[in-house]
Amino acid sequence: MRKFVIMGIQGSGKGTQAKLLADDLDLVHLSVGDILRWNVQNHTKLGAQVTRIVASGELVSDDLVETVIQDRLALHDWNYGFIVDGFPRNARQAEFFLESYDIDGVIDLDLPDSEVERRVLARRLCSGCGLDYNLIAHRPKIDDVCDVCAAPLRTRSDDNPQALAVRLREYHDKTRPVIELFQRKEFVVTVDATRSAPEIQAELRTRLGLPALTTS
Ligand SMILES: [Zn+2]
Repeated sequence: MRKFVIMGIQGSGKGTQAKLLADDLDLVHLSVGDILRWNVQNHTKLGAQVTRIVASGELVSDDLVETVIQDRLALHDWNYGFIVDGFPRNARQAEFFLESYDIDGVIDLDLPDSEVERRVLARRLCSGCGLDYNLIAHRPKIDDVCDVCAAPLRTRSDDNPQALAVRLREYHDKTRPVIELFQRKEFVVTVDATRSAPEIQAELRTRLGLPALTTS
């Protein structure tokens, strides 16, 4: 059984790396974002709560996220282990989490703020079908026009330098104490996330002592 925590700012490729590990090692990928989105889409009680919080301009609290993760882990359907993404949110939660579960490693995807900016500010969204584009990695064939439905592409309202600077500061302020606590108590693998997804995955596996990913 293997238990990991994965941390990284938006644009660091955290979801991709978590999925590569989870699929290959039969781990359950516990993504707070995915769980909340699923609940909103399926109109559960939790989903209604999240919708209310977001509509009032608030952020989902650390306590609510903790409940979501604890409830999910309590299902005990993770026979081969899990990889947690989006939790813990603060040092208290990290401490409690480490006491409750024997974590094998904490993965920290490191991306400089300048690169986060470059990646996030390159994001575009189709105003028609909602398809995601990225002017670095996934350009439309014709500038500013969706390949699929030909509608104009737009930028998300919060993907601007001012809003991003606030998100970056919040991320560092919140994450630093968690990473420091993990570094004191647990094995933290910090990898340079500016490289390609396969290169990052290969380094993670080497450093975590996992077998190399076999491409079939
Ligand atoms: Zn479209």
